[in-house]
Amino acid sequence: MIAEVISIGDELTSGQRLDTNSQWLSQRLSELGVQVLYHSTVADDLQANISVFRTALARSDVVVATGGLGPTADDLTREVLAQVSGRELLLDEASLAHIQRLFARYKRDMPERNRSQALFPAGSRIIFNSNGTAPGIWMDVARPGGGTCHAFALPGVPAEMFEMFHQTVGPAVAALGDRPQVIRHRRIKVFGAGESHVEQMLPDLIRRGRKPSVGITVHAATITLRITAVGATPEECYAAMEPTVATIRQCLGSLVFGEEDDELENAVIRLLAASGHTLCTAEVGTGGSVAKWLSRAAGGQPFYLGGYVIQNMAMLARWLGDSQDLVAGHGGASREVAEAMALCCRAQSGADFGLAIGPFPADGAQNPEVPFYFSLAAPHKVTTKASSLVGHPAIWTPRAGKAALNLLRLTLLGEM
Ligand code: AMP
Ligand code: MG
Repeated sequence: MIAEVISIGDELTSGQRLDTNSQWLSQRLSELGVQVLYHSTVADDLQANISVFRTALARSDVVVATGGLGPTADDLTREVLAQVSGRELLLDEASLAHIQRLFARYKRDMPERNRSQALFPAGSRIIFNSNGTAPGIWMDVARPGGGTCHAFALPGVPAEMFEMFHQTVGPAVAALGDRPQVIRHRRIKVFGAGESHVEQMLPDLIRRGRKPSVGITVHAATITLRITAVGATPEECYAAMEPTVATIRQCLGSLVFGEEDDELENAVIRLLAASGHTLCTAEVGTGGSVAKWLSRAAGGQPFYLGGYVIQNMAMLARWLGDSQDLVAGHGGASREVAEAMALCCRAQSGADFGLAIGPFPADGAQNPEVPFYFSLAAPHKVTTKASSLVGHPAIWTPRAGKAALNLLRLTLLGEM
């Protein structure tokens, strides 16, 4: 069964508002085991809507549209559904009474235009809207080439749309005969190797048509392996995914740092909590990002003491108590400075671990070969690493911050 989501509104096609309804609806339909093959976004234009709906009704088994059900002249969805199905628009008295009651409750006169919201194409069903004046429309349309398309039109207001989907559309789709069961996903989070390297380490898992399927995406140097299973129940899906998850964990070892919404800082906080150790950070290049991530991940837990965020080289020298002109002598982006920062923040805070990210090289953008340094001062050793600032400058900070957190994570795991 193939589904299509249609989003309607000038505010969407002009880029003034992001179409979040399509994302939400696709997630819900996918949970119901329905594959969404198309997203269409269309302006408040009659001909454009007719064309989009004609195409959708012909190629999809389920169509869920949002927007265009308001009372104003730019709300065209009712008219469009009537035209593409060749049916008349008829007044539904019960819906009109509901709209009148809503106006009476707010002690306002009902404008004549709102009557249009009680019009429905002949033979369609009404999707009750307990929160607003726009009811939805459920219309089953016979396709020219055989079969039926189940079309649902809902208001664009997200909160109203969510509730109407849960109350009416979801159960209706779930009850459709040839529904292919439910779909569930799991996400395994990986850091420390490139995408293609990770793929090579997973024997034939990312093959098309494999069940459960495994997809790979990368975002700001974190790799996500997304496993998808189809089954009769959620339990069946999770059981089917378990051996794949086990294989991935076995093949990738400590490259895997977590699952689902985990980030590296969550993994680090968990390891600190398990070993009862504390951490302090010092950052120049990453401008406080690592402190922000760790603070959020730690919540009220006492394992992250806090971080020094330093922007200026004179300030860095002063903070380091730099009598030998370390910063001036070696340049900010040096092994010596990163190491001194890690030791200084460990000593000043009394934490078990001091994690430091030194300055980025001044000419990093022109000269990607010049590295930056990060350093970890642990109770009995200091480990300092160099890494080059490859890629677009926008991802230097997440990359550098994650590389530093990963050094700490591997140290806490006893792998460094
Ligand atoms: P409408 O039902 O077209 O009058 O839309 C009512 C409100 O819902 C407006 O504030 C829209 O910006 C918002 N809205 C409509 N469609 C979407 C969508 N696809 N995603 C997010 N918001 C939407
Ligand atoms: Mg609109």
